[in-house]
Amino acid sequence: MYTLGIESTAHTIGCSVIKVDLQRVGNRSKCEILSDARAVYKAPTGSGIHPREASRHHCDKAPHILKKSLNDSGIKASELDLIAYSAGPGLGPCLRVGAVLARAIAAFYNKSLVPVNHALGHVELGIVLTNSIDPLVLLVSGGHTMILGFNNKKWRVFGETLDITLGQLLDQFGRAMGFASPCGSVIEQLANQSSKNYFPLPYIIKGNDVSLSGLLTAAKELGNGKNIELADVCYSLQETSFAILTEAVERALSFTNKKEVLIVGGVAANKRLGYMLREACRRLSSKAIICPIHYAGDNGTQIAWTGTIDHISTGNRIDVEKAATQQSWRLDTIEVTWR
Ligand code: AMP
Ligand code: MG
Repeated sequence: MYTLGIESTAHTIGCSVIKVDLQRVGNRSKCEILSDARAVYKAPTGSGIHPREASRHHCDKAPHILKKSLNDSGIKASELDLIAYSAGPGLGPCLRVGAVLARAIAAFYNKSLVPVNHALGHVELGIVLTNSIDPLVLLVSGGHTMILGFNNKKWRVFGETLDITLGQLLDQFGRAMGFASPCGSVIEQLANQSSKNYFPLPYIIKGNDVSLSGLLTAAKELGNGKNIELADVCYSLQETSFAILTEAVERALSFTNKKEVLIVGGVAANKRLGYMLREACRRLSSKAIICPIHYAGDNGTQIAWTGTIDHISTGNRIDVEKAATQQSWRLDTIEVTWR
């Protein structure tokens, strides 16, 4: 079957067409990616994502991205079997663009429509692309910082941020230093240039949960201080925040005894974080697996794939009039029947 997936929760408007072989349905079905078109909203230097501006961007780009994904895939809209869209969590105005696009195609071509939880999309695509079996998942992105394990029909949260996400920490620090958002990769490059002068910063972990907002305040103060190399501040920020996350993962790992740790979300691109997690996994006889970077951040493929396995296993589909969006929608409220 052919599915079109539409992603528009925050900075990215993405459309992807995938093919899934119905003879191999279930945990081990293959996701054949026929196309993955995206356009990313870039906020002005120093500012974050403005929901209204990002949704304008998505409206402008959506026709081109949709056309490109269909052209690249070689599949006509009439040949699609399913339309999956990211229904939340995310920024209201941005979510609505994707939902309107999905509704329009489903209504015009009389196709089945299925809403997808964006965070679940990150997790499920990471699993299928890496052939993970039963991983502990670290989801670290602009919108999420969560440690998840699957148990009894749900992804259970074994730890999460109590305030801002790891992506927000990096982006808000970077913006305060005058970088253009998203800032994670610039911070990584600067940290690599540091002569490893470590400045102590607040290290807050409560059980398996982490708190990063005090760290942000202290890092901004340090970055604005005199006679301090910005590269050293970036280095100290990465070392502190990644050590906090690694400790939380390590605790969850010794509790759950999982043999794999899968890292998904845009921050999974960071090599230093990957190294720290690999070392922690090695100590606990587990294996760190990083989602292929191109598919670690937001994209239409994660929505297409998750919508497809949901639709196949539960028959889930909704009427066009009911294709709503939810700005807040926790991953651990969803019953997962395909695992
Ligand atoms: P997502 O919301 O999943 O698309 O992820 C976006 C987040 O990933 C943003 O906060 C980026 O700053 C962050 N990010 C992207 N590349 C890197 C990197 N190399 N190191 C750290 N963070 C990164
Ligand atoms: Mg995301």
